[in-house]
Amino acid sequence: MTGLRFERLEHLLGVPALKSSVLIVGLGSGGFPVFQQLAQSGVSNFILIDPDRLDELNLLKHPGWRRDIGRLKVEIASEWLFDRNPSARVETLAEDLFNLAPKRVSAIMHRVQIVVSATDSNAARHYINELCIASRTPMTVGSVFRGGIGGSVLIYRPGISGCYACMESLAERMDASLPNDAELALTGDEEQMVYGRRLTNYAASGLISDIALVSGLHAQATLGEILAHEVAEGSLGRFNGTWAAMRIRAGQDWAWNLSLFDLPQLDDCLACQ
Ligand SMILES: [Zn+2]
Repeated sequence: MTGLRFERLEHLLGVPALKSSVLIVGLGSGGFPVFQQLAQSGVSNFILIDPDRLDELNLLKHPGWRRDIGRLKVEIASEWLFDRNPSARVETLAEDLFNLAPKRVSAIMHRVQIVVSATDSNAARHYINELCIASRTPMTVGSVFRGGIGGSVLIYRPGISGCYACMESLAERMDASLPNDAELALTGDEEQMVYGRRLTNYAASGLISDIALVSGLHAQATLGEILAHEVAEGSLGRFNGTWAAMRIRAGQDWAWNLSLFDLPQLDDCLACQ
């Protein structure tokens, strides 16, 4: 069997296949489609980290099949990849990033050209941020705002852009198209879900189409960084900015808006300064 034939994308990629190794942390409903879109855009070397197994609730948004319930998400991803591209290379780690020995994590960081941070844990996002700063590895971070009212994608370019911690503190100081605290707070119904039914882990979810918009943006941002490093003229370039904030809804109205900023390194950032 041969690999996927990317000749038809050469007018965009500049080459028939991309050589970068990509580390993806998080293969949930946000990270899995980013992985698929990268694989179908010419990326064929992956390291995948996710400790979770597919459960029935995931079927609402995750690309995994019902027959995959109970299987590790990294296994499902690996099987899908070889179906699409038998000559792809993948290494999987079904472990929580926090449980991996620092030496092992550092060895992984030095083997990849870019990290895709697609975990839904903010603590993990900060940890990945620190790892990328320490190893000077480029990173993209995607997150969907609660309720799916929008999302953001950060492109971290070591020594050039701000980091994830810079983004968080800057987001607190500006509104732009980002949702405010009132919008992100629990609604009356949600409070009822949490307190009335004692659902401590209830989180208002977005539609799959909301997540698809953000994961598409995340995949394109990642591809732009890969292409900028791998390919000469004639291919797609980078995003004209390092921080994309997407607004999908305002209240009950559809209200699309995409803002692209250059995220500066903040002088007072405890992570990157
Ligand atoms: Zn920073």
